[in-house]
Amino acid sequence: MVSRVIPVDPFDLVIFGGTGDLARRKILPGLFRRYLSGQMTPESRIIGAARSEMDDAGFREMVADAIEEFGGPEKSEKAAIAEFLDKLAYVAIDAKGEGGWKELAGQMRDGVVRAFYFSVAPSLFGDLAERLHAHEIANSESRIVVEKPFGRDLETAKALNATLAGYFDETQIYRIDHYLGKETVQNLMAVRFGNVLFEPLWNNHYVDHIQITVAETVGVGGRGAYYDKSGAMRDMVQNHLMQLLCLIAMEPPSKFEADEVRNEKLKVIRALQPVDSHHIVRGQYDADGDSPSYRDDAENPRSFTESFVAMRCHINNWRWAGVPFYLRTGKKMKARASEIAVVFKDLGHSIFEGDEARHRNILAIRLQPNEGIDLQVTIKEPGPGGMRLIDVPLDMTFSEALGEEADDVTDAYERLIMDVIRGNQTLFMRGDEVEAAWEWTDPIIEGWNKRNDVPKWYDQGSSGPDDALMLMHRDGRRWRDIKG
Ligand code: NAD
Repeated sequence: MVSRVIPVDPFDLVIFGGTGDLARRKILPGLFRRYLSGQMTPESRIIGAARSEMDDAGFREMVADAIEEFGGPEKSEKAAIAEFLDKLAYVAIDAKGEGGWKELAGQMRDGVVRAFYFSVAPSLFGDLAERLHAHEIANSESRIVVEKPFGRDLETAKALNATLAGYFDETQIYRIDHYLGKETVQNLMAVRFGNVLFEPLWNNHYVDHIQITVAETVGVGGRGAYYDKSGAMRDMVQNHLMQLLCLIAMEPPSKFEADEVRNEKLKVIRALQPVDSHHIVRGQYDADGDSPSYRDDAENPRSFTESFVAMRCHINNWRWAGVPFYLRTGKKMKARASEIAVVFKDLGHSIFEGDEARHRNILAIRLQPNEGIDLQVTIKEPGPGGMRLIDVPLDMTFSEALGEEADDVTDAYERLIMDVIRGNQTLFMRGDEVEAAWEWTDPIIEGWNKRNDVPKWYDQGSSGPDDALMLMHRDGRRWRDIKG
């Protein structure tokens, strides 16, 4: 089966911060892949706009290097790279001053989609929005893409939303959370809402609990001082983990359309119970031989910022009453792995004599590594020897059935950028969702600050502090192994 690529309308995409780390690692190599696939057509153009003085040739050289360094197998497509580079231009711009804006205005074409990627610090969002309007570069059809962090609490998120709302309608604002662009996350919705099998079981009658894990093996390394002002709660839970929680827990939207989906996600966030301090564990990784501790990395010997957090939350609605959602995320963990696991209840009664093992169906949605979905089912152990039961995973990614199409896993960033050009906001966070998420996380963080809560140490390469294991053991449950 060959994958179908539907070309998007011609566009002018301006990447503010086009020389930055994110642009070089993700955005530009991703756009090249979309060009190679035919989704970005030759009529489209990309304009890098950043502070460095550079001409078009210099920018093209930088992008060629970025494709070489961060691209996949497609970096061998030399002729296509040359064609792609031809679509690029560069304007040196000062977000806070007047330099470069007239030149940028002169570069924009009529009759194509105009999109502006704000891949810069959020403190510049207001300046960019103001100047895009003052110079009539953005119009009512234009779209802007904004990166996380979207605020550091409710107050700053509200201020940021208000600033953007001064220049753009909500339908023009695309708040990116690359977790939502992952193939498997969308597949989760396909599995839930495209099959008759799962939805009837998707509630407190059949689900025992849900686990969401996002584990990283890296520490905070070079960005320790920056990270120390944020921590795992702000950096990961408020956005990525809560978005995953929303998708797994939301009611079926009536249509797969942006506001229908986002309305349902918002209801989940609003139904979250405040978290009791006994149901949350924070951690900091300890030193390990030559590998520095979190506090060393953060260059803050008295830091109370968490590099790990685990918690038990509840959603106050009919569907999920009594079903715990366990969330955990951390740095310097034993493997780089992200997954959502829906753990179904035990069988009420086993008819198989001598079968003391607890057999459970588990639907595991893996975001990394090896994006995919599998369903743990119980079957008979093959061979003679009687009726012994074993649990096996039923691979639901169907890589064999889908063949090449399954291999064509588009990176989250490139998929989301194509959605921006298509004007599809389904996989982007709405302003009220972001604010509701902060409304839930703010009291947790304020509680820690008030109590001077000290994170627990954990070993590098472990699954986090022992208290995090206890969080589940106390409930008679256990975390799934973190497997890379
Ligand atoms: P970076 O520091 O590598 O790049 C910043 C870019 O902004 C540069 O191109 C610089 O020239 C430009 N810039 C800075 N001040 C400017 C000004 N006054 N006028 C015009 N341009 C200016 O940053 P980054 O890592 O690429 O991150 C960009 C944004 O994306 C940040 O908001 C960051 O939080 C977010 N983000 C980054 C990553 C990542 O992996 N790097 C991941 C998620 C979110």
